[in-house]
Amino acid sequence: QARLRFAPSPTGYLHLGGLRTALFNHLFARKWKGKWILRIEDTDRTRLVDDAISSMQRTLDWAGLDYDEGPGRGGDVGPYIQSERRDLYNQHLSTLLDNDKAYHCFCSPDELSEIRKAQQAKKATASYDGRCRHLTEEDVARRKRAGHKFVVRFKDPGDDADLPPDMIFGPYPSTSSPATSSSSSSSSKTWSRPQSPTSALLAPRNSSGLMTQAKGFRGPGSFSNRDKDLDDFILMKGDGYPTYHFANVIDDTTMGITHVFRGEEWLPSTPKHYQIYRALGWNAPHFAHLPLLVNPDGTKLSKRTGDVSVEAYEQKGYEPSALINFLSLIGWDHHHPTTSATQRPFFPIDPASLSSAASHDSSSSSSSLTSGLDMTSLDLRKDYNSFSELYTLDMLVESFSLERVGRTRGSVFLGKLDWLNKMHLKRVGMMHEGGEVKEGKGREGLVRRVKGMLKGKDVFQGCARIEDDEFVGKVLDIELPRATVLSDIPSLSVFFFLRPNLSNPETLGMWKEWSGSGEVRYTEIVGLVRKKLASSSSSTSSEKDVDTETEEWMDGVIESVTQETGMKRSGVVKVLRHALTGRKKGPAIPSVMAVLGREECIGRLEAVEA
Ligand code: GLU
Repeated sequence: QARLRFAPSPTGYLHLGGLRTALFNHLFARKWKGKWILRIEDTDRTRLVDDAISSMQRTLDWAGLDYDEGPGRGGDVGPYIQSERRDLYNQHLSTLLDNDKAYHCFCSPDELSEIRKAQQAKKATASYDGRCRHLTEEDVARRKRAGHKFVVRFKDPGDDADLPPDMIFGPYPSTSSPATSSSSSSSSKTWSRPQSPTSALLAPRNSSGLMTQAKGFRGPGSFSNRDKDLDDFILMKGDGYPTYHFANVIDDTTMGITHVFRGEEWLPSTPKHYQIYRALGWNAPHFAHLPLLVNPDGTKLSKRTGDVSVEAYEQKGYEPSALINFLSLIGWDHHHPTTSATQRPFFPIDPASLSSAASHDSSSSSSSLTSGLDMTSLDLRKDYNSFSELYTLDMLVESFSLERVGRTRGSVFLGKLDWLNKMHLKRVGMMHEGGEVKEGKGREGLVRRVKGMLKGKDVFQGCARIEDDEFVGKVLDIELPRATVLSDIPSLSVFFFLRPNLSNPETLGMWKEWSGSGEVRYTEIVGLVRKKLASSSSSTSSEKDVDTETEEWMDGVIESVTQETGMKRSGVVKVLRHALTGRKKGPAIPSVMAVLGREECIGRLEAVEA
């Protein structure tokens, strides 16, 4: 059974790149019916951030990435926090020391900086020259007794473990000819430095879609663990905590990890990890390094172009499903043949419904209810082809395959996230909870969230309608197509909850602008519409069964006023939009009137007449 792990260091909030790594672990674990665990790598005690663990757990939870084992969740191979596993590291460290595969180093910081300088002068690749290798057991014991500080270093054997190809980047770079015998004669292999950043991209793929040979890595820094001299890297630090490399290898093995998915930045560490595996006589897991996320200009993802912490997206109101969808597509070949339109499970939105769901007028342009296709819906139609990019987490699990992950660094275009978020909001807004749809995951969940947002805003204090689920639901349905994120809803919909202040300069100015474009009989229209709305309360027997709160009925009122006055419909609509909402734009007026309800419309029109 496949076992994967996501192993963040608790040095702050989870970043987009971290969430993407967690996502891939999740996808592959679920796809292969395996398990994935959350492991906290906190051995760098200088970089710990309070609450980072709980904030990461909360973020994973928000994103719907449910790990099978981890802190607080239990499992057979815990503890899942490295600082609680120190006995284990010490035990394996003793094995390495006993087998002469590691040694104590007592060099002081001053000595080390001298050595580093000398190494640099010699153009050596390693920063340490291995001088403590030669200390005798007695030397070590004596220095320890005297209380000298020490670290434990790996004793580089001088040849390389055979590295199987990376599942994404392909074979590790090597300057040795392909014909080099695989028999492990020492130093038979040398490692090349990374070549041009694009060379890995150009590596051919074989028919199964996997690359045949990557000529070089596009990794940060230099990637080379064998340029003749030995690299005795540190396993155990002076503070008694293991280094990342050592703890990582011990844990991946003792936790039964079969596949490691991690960021490209760890690619240069992998040869070191192989060395440790080999020294301990262990088999290494399979590695898949995920290309870095970068800004659209190719630079390292930074706050400059957008937030990097996942929490910032949550706070801005993005849907977790949209962010997950977004991250899944970065660097992902969605034109891969395995997901052609026909094979791809359909995103559960009926595209046909989008044009009507998005039918809004902007008052001045719309001349009839049915021609309510505004830019929103046109965009949706234009983007119809992009529907093949819409995925829920379950759909991603189903359609994911490693061959689809490219080696190209993934550019983060936030505009795409906005589009995806709109799509996901629509999807959720159409789902009713119960059955397959879990509580909080459908339209009802959106209604609850919007209610919470309204309650949190001062302007809505004292407004009874924010407590009315049915009303808030109607407002949500009508405004959702205009929202990019759910938190747009309160400001889009203020006028549903609060009567407009028609005497404020902005609203007055707007009216001037409108009436200047032609003669409009404002009070006459307001009065007529109010009368029509009011007369239906004394419903005659024939009208008894007519539902007076529908869009169609409201539309009928507007039609009859249009005919009676001989005015253009657009003029009538303008007057009503101004009188009822005080805004220039918004959903189609008959829909707005239906949501407000007849009584409220009458009240608002009376207020205008007064
Ligand atoms: N602790 C490392 C990090 O913070 C994890 C590297 C790995 O997955 O091996 O990214």
